[in-house]
Amino acid sequence: PADVETLGRSTWTLLHTIAATYPTTPTVSEQSDLTNFMKLFSKLYPCWVCAEDFQQYIKKDEIRAASRQDFGLWLCGAHNEVNKKLGKPIFDCAKWEERWRTGWKD
Ligand code: FAD
Repeated sequence: PADVETLGRSTWTLLHTIAATYPTTPTVSEQSDLTNFMKLFSKLYPCWVCAEDFQQYIKKDEIRAASRQDFGLWLCGAHNEVNKKLGKPIFDCAKWEERWRTGWKD
């Protein structure tokens, strides 16, 4: 299996890209699909210690999927929680869409 770092980078790319392409006004069914996907993801993520902590995180800060911004910001906060745990810099969530959807201006 991929090492924890390679798996992590690829997975964050997938998850933030899902946020970037999620509708601005999702239907009720799109919202429940995304919420269910994230819950199953947190059980199946093949780094078991990571998955356990992520499931705990989802319990205290519930998945928000009401809109692209709502989910994008929630995911950014979840990623920052992992950054904090690993001693990595905290990402400015005001820039999540620039990083993952529209691209940096410079
Ligand atoms: P990554 O953290 O992989 O980030 C990739 C890119 O995303 C960054 O270069 C930056 O441009 C952008 N970014 C950074 N923060 C944010 C943010 N908050 N919002 C939006 N974009 C951002 N590793 C462990 O060792 N222990 C764990 O318990 C653990 N848990 C994890 C749980 C999950 C759900 C996932 C997906 C990964 C987990 N990882 C864990 C892996 C870890 O988060 C990193 O992916 C890995 O250490 C590689 O880090 P990196 O420095 O390349 O950047």
